Amino acid sequence: MGLEEIKRRIAAAEKASGRAAGEVTLIAVSKVQPPGRVEAVLETGHRIFGENYVQEAVGKWPDWRTRFSGVELHMIGPLQTNKLKPALELFDAFHTLDRPSLASKLARQVQARGNCPQLFVQVNTGAEPQKAGILPDDADAFIAECQAMELVLSGLMCIPPESEDPVPHFRALRDIAARNGLRGLSMGMSADFETAIAEGATHVRVGSAIFGARDYS
Ligand SMILES: *Cc1c(COP(=O)(O)O)cnc(C)c1O
Repeated sequence: MGLEEIKRRIAAAEKASGRAAGEVTLIAVSKVQPPGRVEAVLETGHRIFGENYVQEAVGKWPDWRTRFSGVELHMIGPLQTNKLKPALELFDAFHTLDRPSLASKLARQVQARGNCPQLFVQVNTGAEPQKAGILPDDADAFIAECQAMELVLSGLMCIPPESEDPVPHFRALRDIAARNGLRGLSMGMSADFETAIAEGATHVRVGSAIFGARDYS
């Protein structure tokens, strides 16, 4: 499919849902992709990327950052507190703030550094036991807890259950954001980003539809 096709489809989805052109941020998810594919996208001028693993990202991005200016890197994978320091040096945004212990460590680091990355609280909208994220019923309290620690939240993020219609999950996320006064909605991946845009996504995280299938072998 490729980047240009995805950008075209995002623009069409924005228009179809009456949203302003360019309102949706495309995060190109480059985890596990061969370097050549990522460089090809960098060479088109795209600068916003997502990664899932701190170690992998630390191995790839410092070099690309020196070669391509203006890179904005989003951490979209589960975050271990022992990787927080290197993660804060590399990433501009975190989509997986999902528990009080991480929030308090993050708050301490943010205070010491004097600047806060973009932060999204991950909500486990399907209440799936194997999935990270704060449960929907606990979201309001967790958001308040983060804000009490002076963490500035950009919004919420979700990954709907694979085999379900994502729409109720996107709407649940949007409702939690609205009642907490949060604007950002990080939702929608290769299979459902247009649906997510129709439901109000501000950030879509698209990997395989841009770069091709990931090879984990
Ligand atoms: C890998 C990943 C994506 C991208 O998935 P695709 O289906 O390849 O678009 C988006 N969000 C998260 C959290 C991911 O882990």
